[in-house]
Amino acid sequence: MARASLAEREKQKVRREKQKAEQKAAERESQKAEEERQWQRRKLLLPTPVAAERLGLTASQFRKLATDLALKPESWYRNPNHLTGPECPLWPPEPIAALVAGPEVTAVLERSRRAKEARALKPEKRRAEFRERYGDWRTALRDAAEAMFSLNRYAKHASCRPEHRDEIYSLKSGLLHLLCEEGMVVEVKHHDQHQAGKSCRACNPDGVEDDGSAGHSSCRRCAGTGWYLPPRIVRYVAFRFVVDGRRFAWHQPSIEVGWEYPQPTESSEWTPEPGGKPTPMPRRRFAEAKDLVGWVIGESRRARSNPPS
Ligand SMILES: [Zn+2]
Repeated sequence: MARASLAEREKQKVRREKQKAEQKAAERESQKAEEERQWQRRKLLLPTPVAAERLGLTASQFRKLATDLALKPESWYRNPNHLTGPECPLWPPEPIAALVAGPEVTAVLERSRRAKEARALKPEKRRAEFRERYGDWRTALRDAAEAMFSLNRYAKHASCRPEHRDEIYSLKSGLLHLLCEEGMVVEVKHHDQHQAGKSCRACNPDGVEDDGSAGHSSCRRCAGTGWYLPPRIVRYVAFRFVVDGRRFAWHQPSIEVGWEYPQPTESSEWTPEPGGKPTPMPRRRFAEAKDLVGWVIGESRRARSNPPS
């Protein structure tokens, strides 16, 4: 009896262990299946640029729409361009598919089209406003000069984009030319800026200047001159104008002054003051300021080419 029950207990133990092992295997199996399911699902999720593209939107338009519609990302992935930055969302494909060509997307595209149109119309609207406000371009000269004063200062700031700077300098040229034509120059001087050279590092690695006889003759980098950038003198025309009772002073590289101007009263060495100076005008008015200077220049040219009979 005791022996039989012992054998029986032994058998039960084996059975229980077998059951346990089977249960564990089943758990492992279902865990693997779940991981596989998640992996397959993750492959279907859409990063923002892909989701946006499916809807014909830009990424920022999509992000705004997702916020407006309270769409929730299903998962996240690490930002590939910025390891310490925030993770990037992965969007479920179903709600995105449901939005394709839907009214929400159409509304976003329509808003964007109208905003673009309004931006394109703005310069035309501004020109109409200038005509209304000033009547004649000559009335606007002083305001245009004030606008250029701020723009010219801003162009020297490091934050000014190169294409913006080019645009400002081209307007500056046009305005200085016009002020000269209008006889508003009260003083002209030449200012010569001495710019130190940079010696060629290929043949003159310590940067010490020498007479050029030693190692330079064979240097192809500097064609044997020993200079990466030779020292030079840049000549500026320093204009002073009085426009409607207000004084303005501007420098323009003389090579860029392609128009007649009064004989300079003196030439002197000149060192520009370092550092950016504050611009009196707030940045949000720069676009209007450029339009005003452009309008004055354009109107004056039009008046010259069609003189009143
Ligand atoms: Zn060299």
